[in-house]
Amino acid sequence: MATKPSGLPDRIQHYIGGSFADSIGKETFEVLEPTTNTPYITCASGQQADVDAAVAAAKKAFDEGPWPRMLPRERARVLYRIADEVAAINDELAAIESFDSGLPIRQAKGQANRAAENFRFFADLIVAQVDDAFKMPGRQINYVNRKPKGVAGLITPWNTPFMQESWKLAPALASGCTVVLKPAEFTPVSAQLWAGIMERAGVPEGVFNVVHGFGESAGDALVKHPDVQLVSFTGELGTGKIIYANCAQNMKHMSMELGGKSPAVIFADADFEAALDSTLFGVFSLNGERCTASSRILVERPIYDRFVEAYAERAKRIVVGDPSNPDTEIGALVHPEHYAKVCEYIEIGKGEARLVAGGGRPADLPEGNYVEATVFADVAPDARIFQEEIFGPVVAITPFDTDEEAIELANNVEYGLAAYVWTSNVARAHNVAHAIESGMVWINSHNVRDLRTPFGGVKGSGLGHEGGYRSLDFYSVQQSIHVTLGDVHTTRFGATGYAENDLGLGGPSA
Ligand code: NAD
Repeated sequence: MATKPSGLPDRIQHYIGGSFADSIGKETFEVLEPTTNTPYITCASGQQADVDAAVAAAKKAFDEGPWPRMLPRERARVLYRIADEVAAINDELAAIESFDSGLPIRQAKGQANRAAENFRFFADLIVAQVDDAFKMPGRQINYVNRKPKGVAGLITPWNTPFMQESWKLAPALASGCTVVLKPAEFTPVSAQLWAGIMERAGVPEGVFNVVHGFGESAGDALVKHPDVQLVSFTGELGTGKIIYANCAQNMKHMSMELGGKSPAVIFADADFEAALDSTLFGVFSLNGERCTASSRILVERPIYDRFVEAYAERAKRIVVGDPSNPDTEIGALVHPEHYAKVCEYIEIGKGEARLVAGGGRPADLPEGNYVEATVFADVAPDARIFQEEIFGPVVAITPFDTDEEAIELANNVEYGLAAYVWTSNVARAHNVAHAIESGMVWINSHNVRDLRTPFGGVKGSGLGHEGGYRSLDFYSVQQSIHVTLGDVHTTRFGATGYAENDLGLGGPSA
């Protein structure tokens, strides 16, 4: 087992109403370290009673506390302090995240800064926020009264867990909601850091709460809790479907960021080396455990053989190893269950396509969740490794002959999260991008985020779009207020005689 990062608590607890707490019934589970799968820390396992306590704390803070009532500028100051606190623990967080999730340390290093930026970004947005006001001259003034929705349930996955948590916490808190966070059970450790960050930044008691535990118990209780007004979920499509059905019982607002099987479409006129670098990084960074991974590469026939050969050569040289080693490019997959799933897909792939790099556990790493960078070529569109999300360092490469065929292949899956188009033909780049069914497209680039743009998928990749003001809209009610300026014109029911033209029920629209 790698050396445990310093400063870890002796156990992971819930954080409810400003205090750490074990589960009321004392339930716990063991967290594994992915390079040896040794249990290394015990985590509280939340049940209904723990979720009830956390939601009650969040509801009290929402109904009675200062947070939803603060001026945007006051909340923004607190969010800025959260960002500073997050940035200050960059090294500590990177060590914890790398140890707990198997992420290579160099890639874990940027996570705190990205998380901090999320808080700064939403702090700036709420201060600059404008809402609509409309005038019907001399008759009515109408405006939007924006207010926080209430207690938000935030359910997050295990890939880059702290960063994913920040992506929900920042807009939820910025909007004035109070929250109950349910982190992923594979990687609960970094979520323990939030409590201290929130306290030092001056977030009032009860505004931020965490309940750890399994999806089927803690997550399910949170989704179904009647006092939780909205649910923001990131995770697998199958889980998303269950949560969607459960939210329907109480007509909850929800936002879903789900899986992907994102295509990179590379035309013969593309910058070959740039496309090669970018698609290698796109699927093998973050251990391939990346929702927007370019896990299907579609290559135009004239450059297909050259591309496959060059791609496989580079993939074979990718360094797989101990996540704490700065030279490591692919660390250990998060958990033995996930490792087994990825290995099963590799075996399926061997029967479906041509293996040109990798194909299993590296010979020099006999234990832990290690997988070589694995490349399949000549993958048919109906192959399972073409259709299904593997969420590991495995890529499927497929040739195409025409723009139409490229678009058809790109769209031929149930997901629609991201896409990447590589070409030097400007018109083709836009036309292909427009025709691809995905929430986001990068042209001649891998995934570089602009926090102002919509983030989210179509088809099986999600519901709703977050990012920029869209996130604030999700966490806010936008109540329309209509005020009469002059005499109110009312059709006089029950009074004698009114003219036909008095029956204009809504009146003129402007
Ligand atoms: P998962 O669906 O197994 O779990 C996600 C979270 O949901 C966990 O906290 C889990 O405990 C909880 N959960 C599970 N069952 C639940 C239930 N019945 N009710 C309530 N909560 C429940 O996903 P994962 O394996 O942790 O994460 C990987 C998946 O997340 C991949 O599919 C990946 O593509 C996706 N993802 C998507 C994005 C995006 O932005 N679109 C980002 C990151 C990850």
